[in-house]
Amino acid sequence: MNETDIARITDKIQARLREIKVQDQLGQDAQAVVELDQQAIGRLSRMDAMQHQAMARAQQSRRNTEILRLNAALVRMDEGEYGYCEDCGDAIAAKRLEFDPAASKCITCASL
Ligand SMILES: [Zn+2]
Repeated sequence: MNETDIARITDKIQARLREIKVQDQLGQDAQAVVELDQQAIGRLSRMDAMQHQAMARAQQSRRNTEILRLNAALVRMDEGEYGYCEDCGDAIAAKRLEFDPAASKCITCASL
C-alpha cells in the first residue's frame, strides 16, 4: 500500500460513511411514515407495521456495524497498520481491500 492507495481508500471509506448517514436518515423517515400510516389511516395492519419496523431495525443495526468497521479501518490507517491482517500480520490482498475497504483480516484468517 503506497500513499496514493491509502488516500484513495480513505476517500472511499469516507464516501461510504456519508452514504450510510443518508440511509440512516431515510430509514428513520421510513419508520416515521409507517407509524403515521398506522395511526392516521389504519391502512397497514399491525403485523405489516411490525415487519417494516423489524426490517428497518435490522438494516439500522447492519449500518451501525458497518460504521464501526469503517471507523476501525480509519484508525488502522492512522496507526499505519492498515492493509495488514490483524491475526497473522500478512498483507491483505489489494483486491480484497478494493471489495471491502474495512477488511481487517487476510482471506486465509477470515475464512478460518
Ligand atoms: Zn491473516
